[in-house]
Amino acid sequence: MSTHTKYHLITLGCQMNLSDSERVVSVLNDHGYTWTDNEEEAGLIGILACSVRQKAIDKVYSRIHKWNKWKNHKNLITFISGCMLPDDHEKFLKLFDITFQMKDLPKLPEMISQYGVTSPAHLNPGIDPHNKNIEEFWSVKPSYQSDYEAFIPIQNGCDKFCTFCAVPYTRGREVSRPSKDILAEIALLVAQGYKSITLLGQNVNSYGLDKKGSEIQFPELLRQVGEMGLRMNKEFWVYFTSPHPRDMTDEVIEVISQYPVLAKQIHLPMQSGDDKVLIRMNRKHNMEKYRHIVHTIRRLIPEATLFTDIIVGFTGETEEQFENTRKAMEEFKFNMSYTAIYSPRPGATSHRWADDVPLDEKKRRLHVLTEELRKHNLGNNNRLIGKTIKVLVRGTDRKPGYLSALTEGKLIVRFPENDQNLIGQFADVKVTSASDFSLEGELVNIEQVA
Ligand code: SF4
Repeated sequence: MSTHTKYHLITLGCQMNLSDSERVVSVLNDHGYTWTDNEEEAGLIGILACSVRQKAIDKVYSRIHKWNKWKNHKNLITFISGCMLPDDHEKFLKLFDITFQMKDLPKLPEMISQYGVTSPAHLNPGIDPHNKNIEEFWSVKPSYQSDYEAFIPIQNGCDKFCTFCAVPYTRGREVSRPSKDILAEIALLVAQGYKSITLLGQNVNSYGLDKKGSEIQFPELLRQVGEMGLRMNKEFWVYFTSPHPRDMTDEVIEVISQYPVLAKQIHLPMQSGDDKVLIRMNRKHNMEKYRHIVHTIRRLIPEATLFTDIIVGFTGETEEQFENTRKAMEEFKFNMSYTAIYSPRPGATSHRWADDVPLDEKKRRLHVLTEELRKHNLGNNNRLIGKTIKVLVRGTDRKPGYLSALTEGKLIVRFPENDQNLIGQFADVKVTSASDFSLEGELVNIEQVA
């Protein structure tokens, strides 16, 4: 296949797949392939799949059947990678020309040029649970999609085996990326003017544990990032997602409180506010532990915003157990909750259990939690009226004539302004009004940060 071939890539699933796609784009661009937005003119089409959600897998099937029909009248090579359960992987072998595991990305151009000879994963379908060669993948320089906001993988895989989740089966066991590479990537991005950096992993705060003493651990990684911020004398915010409550130590919170570049926003998935449900979810944390973490955050970083993930209607969840989740929400007053209705995920342990909470009841529980969030968020947001807050401008708002921005705590702020040059810049906005999920204000200052 000519290296002048145009390619198109579709990315499904979470932020981790989006981050992976930045490396796929780099490898293809470096080998002379050129991107096209139009899949119909592409000679090479790839997809980064997500077996974690059935809907995403259904999308893969509908696309590949369409592309395979196109092969009757044009030359086309298709490939697939991403988060795949072994079963899905095996089915895709018959449908795609090339299947590979992300750790084999550096070999993709070779697989394309010798189309038909595909990755070892093709010969031996299934997921390598130990993620060998993942460091080779990490060494690929990504083609960042933004020039002010970047996502940096620090770890791949998961050892936790929550019963509702398929990730440990799609991405294998936890492997930590070398800290020197992570720190070098952050330093490079900050030197280029990046303002928002998110450290990415399935369980970021168990970073380093797999290396059994030969690598630093998460609090020390954060400390070194914080020290870098002091040394570089640049303004930027560093986030991480997602931590697991089980591995959330006081030390992590202390370090965040000590360094200005470590953003004062913490995403701490709770999933349920009931200990019995947490046990059946195999979450390995209980509410006492969760409460201790939240109290420590409030004590050491009172200005921090707190985000969470919650599942309602998990298999067997009683009304009383759900009520414990509602009470926890009332108690912790999260700034944001990504609340999902439970649905069995193929490949996850709970897929074998009865999905016994009726859909209408799940929807009611979702509604109750959304109202709870709305209620206290309005109070939280109203308290910001009249204050001037630093924001990072991120794009045009849906409201015509307005730009949209995020505070350090990831609260959404819109303000009247048409100057697109502000996108990617820090600015100060005075909050003039608040609603349950956003703030509105007026621009008072544009920060000229080097
Ligand atoms: S939900 Fe549980 S199993 Fe899934 S990635 Fe997170 S910690 Fe791992």
